[in-house]
This record gives sequence, structure tokens and C-alpha cells, in this order.
Amino acid sequence: MERKKSVAIVGGGITGVAIAYHLAKLDRFEITVIDDPIGRRATGVAAGMLAPVTEVNFGEEHLASFMLSSADYFKSVATTFNDQYKLDIGYRNTGTITVSLTDKDRKDLERYLALYRRLGLSAVESEGSELRLLEPLLSPQVNYGISTEIDQQVDNRALYDALKRVNNRLGVNTVGHKVVKVERDRMGDYRIFNDSGSNSLFNLVIVASGTSSNSIEGDLKEISNFIRPVKGQIIRARHSIDTKAPGKIIRYSVDSRPGYIVTRSNGEVVIGATSEEVGFDDRLKARSTYELLHDAIRVLPIVGEYSIEEINVGFRPASDDNLPIIGALKENLWVALGSYRHGILLSMYIGKMVSEAISAEETTLAGYEFFSPSRFVGDLQVTTPQA
Ligand SMILES: Cc1cc2nc3c(=O)[nH]c(=O)nc-3n(C[C@H](O)[C@H](O)[C@H](O)COP(=O)(O)OP(=O)(O)OC[C@H]3O[C@@H](n4cnc5c(N)ncnc54)[C@H](O)[C@@H]3O)c2cc1C
Repeated sequence: MERKKSVAIVGGGITGVAIAYHLAKLDRFEITVIDDPIGRRATGVAAGMLAPVTEVNFGEEHLASFMLSSADYFKSVATTFNDQYKLDIGYRNTGTITVSLTDKDRKDLERYLALYRRLGLSAVESEGSELRLLEPLLSPQVNYGISTEIDQQVDNRALYDALKRVNNRLGVNTVGHKVVKVERDRMGDYRIFNDSGSNSLFNLVIVASGTSSNSIEGDLKEISNFIRPVKGQIIRARHSIDTKAPGKIIRYSVDSRPGYIVTRSNGEVVIGATSEEVGFDDRLKARSTYELLHDAIRVLPIVGEYSIEEINVGFRPASDDNLPIIGALKENLWVALGSYRHGILLSMYIGKMVSEAISAEETTLAGYEFFSPSRFVGDLQVTTPQA
């Protein structure tokens, strides 16, 4: 029998565990996920929107088809986890409404509607009064909105826990270490050094360490400088049986500040989120909390009755051009970085595509070669191992 290739995945956030899951299902690799137990992890902070329409942005049109395929793939993921593994990942087919309260914010939404139409994304515009028929909890001040049935949600914490449980069943080995160095050895394998002083050798390494990649020395250093953290402050609240919550995801722009309210079937309500280019400043800022609640209550007054359970800060891993960086950096060294605002949405599809590419011994994702790290660091050099 052919010996299984050893694969290390550095970083056990949603990207790392989704890749591990898809590789493990192929039953051709011996997989170890190395995750810093106290590392920064955006995965549990996120809101869990699967939003290929309302998250598409000017200048990021390139990503639209990958986002759509990712959202589409999530439907089958939810079914597999439900039917095969008996695990509920909180996938909800609710659709999304994005609303405005002022003429200026309405104009901004109309610009986005034109973008959605240009990209062939299905969305419908409505006046405020029509929207209140769809969602009676909306404020009477809502003057306009755009609805889409494409954008859904998943409970990102439930998804993450489910993936880790299934990975365990599939034989994925998970270890809690901070990786400090990744270095190629003379035979073309990679040696991983961790902060406890030990090291191990793997045939293939995939780095999915989110915003913290540039703390890893060695062969990774040249790409990790192209990743920056984008701070997001976010609130988790809860509605009771007496306080109703919207069925759909509600997004809005209040005084040009974007926001959203995501209601889960278990009563959790996620109110988010700021987007700040302030490095790793992890303070929970009073003004951010005030604005998040102020805007949410203006759009949906019932939010004022909810109980606050958590206020968190997370750091979205963004690349210099805001697109993911996925592909081989060197022979046997892959990166899956830069999922930015969409890392939950993209996670499972990235896992599928990366595992297919690695199986086929490709160095980029088929159809998405422009995600390759070569756009920042030049083409991959294939070398012959020394004897
Ligand atoms: C406020 C907020 C709201 C968001 N909402 C959404 C949303 O609604 N929908 C959506 O799709 N996306 C959303 N996102 C984005 C999403 O959370 C991220 O894109 C996604 O979590 C990135 O996953 P990741 O696994 O790549 O990185 P992370 O989740 O950051 O995980 C990185 C992992 O690598 C580990 N690590 C780092 N360095 C090392 C090291 N040296 N050695 C070992 N391990 C290491 C860390 O411990 C961590 O576990 C949101 C993000 C934020 C902050």
C-alpha cells in the first residue's frame, strides 16, 4: 500500500479546519492541524452571513463568482452535516433585506443595486411601506430597501465545532502549538518549529493562520507581509419569547455607516460590525458599541428590548488587494490566507477547491488562478531536491 503523504495545516480557524475536513475525506493524507490555542481567531467572532450579494463591493467584482459558488456549496454542506453526521450547523435559508432611512443612504443602496444587476445577482428593490409588509418590525422611518433570497446564514460557531468533531472522527490529528518557523529541508519537505522548542517534518504544509501569519519566520515571510488585520467590533444579544426578532437578515446604512442584524433560530441576535484599519488595537470602544446599538435600534426599534450577551473584537485577515491569497507559495508549501470579510462564506468551498488542487498536484485553484500568491511574490520556482 502507498504511504500516505503527511500534511500539516498551520492555523485551526475555519479555513484550516475546512481544508483539513476536505483533505481527510479523500483518505490519501495523514493530516495534522497545528493551532495556537491562544492565537487570534476571527472565526468565532464573525456573524455567519453567507452573503455573495450584499457583501460584493466595488473593485472586488472578481470575487463574485467564487462567492456565489461558495454560497451554493453551503446548501449541500448543511445537508451532509445534518443527514450524515447528525450535526446542526445552523444553516438558515432566510434571505436578506438591506434598508435605508434617509435619501442619501437610499442613493448609496441604489448604486449597489446597479452593481448587483451588472453582475447578474438577483435582487429586488422596494419602497419602505412594501418592506414593512415583508418585515413588520422595521422602523416606520425605513424609506427604501433591496431584498435578495440568495444571501443566507450559518451559525459559524456551530459550524466550527461540527467541523472539529467530524475531523476528529476522520482521523485528523489536532495539536495546540504556536508555530514560529516553517523551513524547507534539503529533500523538499518542510520542517515546522513551534514555540515549545520542538519541530516536526511534513511532506506538505498549508498555512491558514489568518492575520497572524507574519509572526512565522522562514519561507512564509515573503507573503505574510501582504496580510493586514481589519478590526471588527460586534455585539451578540438575545431575544426572548416576548420580544420578537426579524425572520430575515436585516442590513442597513445609517448615516453612511453599514450595519446588520442576524437572528439565529436559537434566539441569538448578532449586531455588527465596525470595520476599522487600526492594526491590532483590540479595545472594545464605547463609541463603537454606542453606534452599533444606535443604528440597529433606529432600523429595528425592538432591538432595544433585547439582552446583551457579548461584545467582541475580531480581526479580518485582508490582503493588499482584498482578494484571498490561495495557492502554492513554494513547492509543497501552500497558503490559504486573506478571506477578509467573507471567511465563513468561503471556508467550505476553499476547503473543497484546495483539496482537489492538492490531490491533482496543481499549484493554483482551477479557474481562480488570480488568487495565487504569485501576484505578490512572483512565480513559483520548482526545484529538484538535493540528494
Ligand atoms: C466582526 C466580524 C464579522 C464577520 N462576519 C462575517 C460574516 O458574517 N460572514 C463571513 O463569511 N465572514 C465574516 N467575517 C470574516 C471571517 O470571520 C474571517 O474571514 C474568517 O474567520 C477567517 O478565518 P481563518 O481561519 O482564515 O482565520 P482565523 O479565524 O483568524 O483563524 C486563524 C487561526 O490561526 C491560528 N494561528 C495564527 N498564528 C498561528 C501560529 N503561528 N501557529 C499556529 N496557529 C496560528 C489562530 O490561533 C487561529 O486559530 C467576520 C469577521 C469579523 C471580525
